[in-house]
Amino acid sequence: MQLSFYCPTKVFFEQECVDKYSAEMSKFGKKALIVTGGNSSKKNGSLKDMVDALDKEGIDHRVFDQVEQNPSVNTVYQGARLARQMKADFIVGIGGGSPLDAAKAVAVLAVNDIEEDQLLTKRWVKSALPVVAVPTTAGTGSEVTPYSILTVDKEETKKSIAGDDLFPVIAYMDARYMLNLPWYVTANTAVDALSHSIEGFINNRATLISDLLALESITIIGRVLKNIDLNNISLDERAELLYASMLAGMVISQTATNMVHAMGYPLTYYKNLPHGLANGVTLKAALEFLGQGSPDKVARVVRAMDCQNLDEVGRLLAKVLPQVSIKLSESEQQLFVEKTMQAKNIANCPISPQEKDIYNIFKSSGLTE
Ligand code: NAP
Ligand code: ZN
Repeated sequence: MQLSFYCPTKVFFEQECVDKYSAEMSKFGKKALIVTGGNSSKKNGSLKDMVDALDKEGIDHRVFDQVEQNPSVNTVYQGARLARQMKADFIVGIGGGSPLDAAKAVAVLAVNDIEEDQLLTKRWVKSALPVVAVPTTAGTGSEVTPYSILTVDKEETKKSIAGDDLFPVIAYMDARYMLNLPWYVTANTAVDALSHSIEGFINNRATLISDLLALESITIIGRVLKNIDLNNISLDERAELLYASMLAGMVISQTATNMVHAMGYPLTYYKNLPHGLANGVTLKAALEFLGQGSPDKVARVVRAMDCQNLDEVGRLLAKVLPQVSIKLSESEQQLFVEKTMQAKNIANCPISPQEKDIYNIFKSSGLTE
């Protein structure tokens, strides 16, 4: 038997945990920069809870609320300028994966005066500032991963940076913040988490522990998605999805993702498909391909989702996800296949896809004319 496991984030998972465990933040210093998106954290109460908690602990704070979806390198440099100006001791990310990932990159750039190339090739010298994470979507698991995924315009793609210093030091997880999350964001992000667990399970780097976490999270997400009424999602269902997405984050923090995320990046970059949906749209066809190399593991995924076969998995995904009407032209298909093959997570597939396999998956997923 051989395995390693590292996930150093202190997790608090309960209602009002930001307020209850605010004292945990005092050990990181006296000045915090809050990194968040433009709107939702102001509406769902998460920003106010954090501001109140920092005030209670006597921690000075400023807010950088310019993080867009799929954050760009430019945005994280802007956030870092503010962190330097105020001499922040730590960074608080509040929001979906976009603000959490931006917070991690800001934490690196706040203490490392480096160019974009050095950032993207992980050549920073000083450890990033501590990051506290408050997720308000249940999908990316970024609150327990060492990754920050950035949009890199000069390479026309998304790229991840990783480092042990990017694991958040604290994750405050309160499902109440998700009560008004629109149905389509809920579905897309739940499928993102499902995809993390599936890709981490069918993965060269999978271990006994990551498999355990992956199967539990696939089981929970499968059950919740089967029963969910997307117009009326209960707080308990929200909490289950948040828990499962955290488990999925723990999985990919060990294994990273595989070809599904690699195919999703060009769909997001060029076609603006939300991240989870970009994974969900090819997931079934990718599982058919991966089943050629790992039939047992694919069968276990199907069973964990309480489905009879991959067709039923496909029907469940189609039931919950928004419809995708994208049709890629021939030149787009060529470009997307090229971009997919360049992504480093392709190497994690137990069976190596060739270009034609990626073409076929886009085609079977209904994305070609
Ligand atoms: P997101 O881009 O963070 O947010 C999507 C939308 O949902 C935004 O409009 C946001 O509004 C809104 N929103 C967030 N929380 C809300 C709430 N509680 N109520 C209402 N609206 C809310 O979406 P995401 O899917 O969570 O994150 C995707 C990003 O994470 C991608 O860049 C992806 O590559 C990355 N990712 C990272 C990891 C990792 O390990 N680090 C893993 C997978 C994916 P506002 O803009 O106003 O906040
Ligand atoms: Zn993802």
